[in-house]
Amino acid sequence: MQNFKIVKIVDPTWKRPSWDEYFLKLAMLASERATCPRMHCGCVLVKDRYVLATGYNGSLPGTPHCYEEGCMLVNDHCVRTNHAEINAICQASQHGISLADGTAYVTNMPCTNCAKALIAAGIKRVVIFSDYHDTLAERFFDEAGVKLDRLPMPDTTINYNLAKYKSAKQFENDKP
Ligand SMILES: [Zn+2]
Ligand SMILES: [Zn+2]
Repeated sequence: MQNFKIVKIVDPTWKRPSWDEYFLKLAMLASERATCPRMHCGCVLVKDRYVLATGYNGSLPGTPHCYEEGCMLVNDHCVRTNHAEINAICQASQHGISLADGTAYVTNMPCTNCAKALIAAGIKRVVIFSDYHDTLAERFFDEAGVKLDRLPMPDTTINYNLAKYKSAKQFENDKP
């Protein structure tokens, strides 16, 4: 047998995110792709700790974006985009993925329509880190037996320190 030794590296600055923190952070990352400057929202649909689908609020495929052509307002609400939750559900439907018994990680409390769509799609738990105005989501979740968890907003930085990893090297062109 080959010789080996165990080397334990202790990094006191490292904090491994919990599964909930990890998926909430992915939802935040998805929100960076949002196209409506009035609101950036992200949603990650998960089952058994794997990602089924992701979404952010954005225009329909092939149609203009709010940030390019302006928001389309009805009663002071922009109606140009689909919300993050709907886009995530639609992505799953395009790929024939069942969302039954899944969890939705969303950057904000869903609006009434998205809450109803998540429930109808079979989502059983919703995790958020901020609230949203004018929504009956909580009432519908209660009624439908969907568990709602309000968690603290996760750390918004991505902690990746290339310089620290001995076996990886930065591209020459990327060096400052
Ligand atoms: Zn807009
Ligand atoms: Zn919505």
